[in-house]
Amino acid sequence: MIDKKPAAIARCVDAADVQTCVNYGRDNSIPLAIRGGGHNAGGLGLVDDGLVIDLSLMRGIRVDPEDRTVRVQGGCRWGDVDHAAHAYGLAVPAGIISTTGVGGLTLGGGVGHLTRKYGLTIDNLLEADVVLADGSMVVASAKENAELFWALRGGGGNFGVVTSFLFRGNPVDTIFGGPTLWSLDRTEEIMKWYRDFILQAPEELTGFFVFLTVPPGPPFPEHLHLKKMCGVVWCYSGDMAEAEEIFAPVRELEPDLYGVHDMPFPALNSAFDPIYPPGLQWYWRADFFTEISDESIVEHARWAAEMPTMHTTMHLYPIDGAAHRVGAEDTAWSYREANWAGVIVGVDPDPANKDILRDWTVGYWDSVHPSSSGGAYINFMMEEGQERVQASYRGNYDRLAEIKAKYDPNNLFKVNQNILPKE
Ligand SMILES: Cc1cc2nc3c(=O)[nH]c(=O)nc-3n(C[C@H](O)[C@H](O)[C@H](O)COP(=O)(O)OP(=O)(O)OC[C@H]3O[C@@H](n4cnc5c(N)ncnc54)[C@H](O)[C@@H]3O)c2cc1C
Repeated sequence: MIDKKPAAIARCVDAADVQTCVNYGRDNSIPLAIRGGGHNAGGLGLVDDGLVIDLSLMRGIRVDPEDRTVRVQGGCRWGDVDHAAHAYGLAVPAGIISTTGVGGLTLGGGVGHLTRKYGLTIDNLLEADVVLADGSMVVASAKENAELFWALRGGGGNFGVVTSFLFRGNPVDTIFGGPTLWSLDRTEEIMKWYRDFILQAPEELTGFFVFLTVPPGPPFPEHLHLKKMCGVVWCYSGDMAEAEEIFAPVRELEPDLYGVHDMPFPALNSAFDPIYPPGLQWYWRADFFTEISDESIVEHARWAAEMPTMHTTMHLYPIDGAAHRVGAEDTAWSYREANWAGVIVGVDPDPANKDILRDWTVGYWDSVHPSSSGGAYINFMMEEGQERVQASYRGNYDRLAEIKAKYDPNNLFKVNQNILPKE
């Protein structure tokens, strides 16, 4: 659905290239966009008639197994990080699809398979190299430019171009994971069970709730092909000897598909890549939820039955556990008390279906939004206006606006969920 036509795309190979682009754009009043992995559904990696700072050639990684750190260039995708870190038995918590860019996902927050155990991606960020609007390059960390470091952790691409990230690597090797699926007519029962179970489960277990249509091919059994189902995609990163016991309550619910088994972490993180290749039409809407009420479950069940296309889906990612142990004002990510980041996603290859995708997504969102916490995870938002951006940062917005005024007073970096510089 993204139909933007930049004047030029600069394929940067290093920080000096990025500095040249920033200086050129600023001095010639040319709109700038920053493109990491190109996954932003609102098309915020591109800009009409402007210059795209494309980082996709900057994909170097260096793992330090002794310090347990992973240095990642700004254009890497998560599959690059998984590949390099797994060789040392380490992982950085990120999302659930390995083709997503490190840049956009990290700067927005980062939710995924390891959130309950190791926190959001930003909770594992130690340092960033940033090219600022004035063309200078600075390091942001807890020790240097601490305000900028605070803002980068959730504030998106508002403050500069990050050419390199330093992450903490966590000991993750073989995990026990995969999907369990149930027939859609059990939605109310399974969703009620899930909302109570996951918040009590050990933090080594993350499981996000899904509605999906079973893809018509292996490894899915033929009798389930193209069936709409509800389910949970699990990742257990604890002691493998205890995995069977951890999943006993799940098996008791007799799923129609029990696809959980041991596998290397990168295998789980790339398992859904083939279902979501480049070029699909995407329309999404999001919310944070502290509770999943009985009333909202009735609405979820109703809209799931109406999913318009095979790729269309709804996910509820748990963001409790380690993500709750960071304070609401410790990083720009304000919703530390929320238990789920929800996203409703209309997806299809055919551009002719774009209105159908949008109508279903917006209708579904309208019906569950009243039960939400108010704002949403900015990486699951389209271009939805300033009010929505402010609702997502709540009490942190003013501080972000002050930091924006210091580092980017003329709003050079505005193709993002934009934080307006404080006047
Ligand atoms: C298939 C799919 C699966 C997803 N799964 C997850 C998930 O599991 N968990 C999750 O948290 N999110 C997920 N997302 C959302 C994802 O976090 C956002 O779409 C994010 O914006 C993607 O980052 P990107 O670098 O690929 O995007 P791009 O389109 O390249 O960039 C988006 C924005 O990020 C900023 N940006 C990117 N790189 C940099 C940089 N180096 N320096 C400064 N700014 C930068 C820019 O402001 C730009 O506007 C998913 C998205 C898709 C399409």
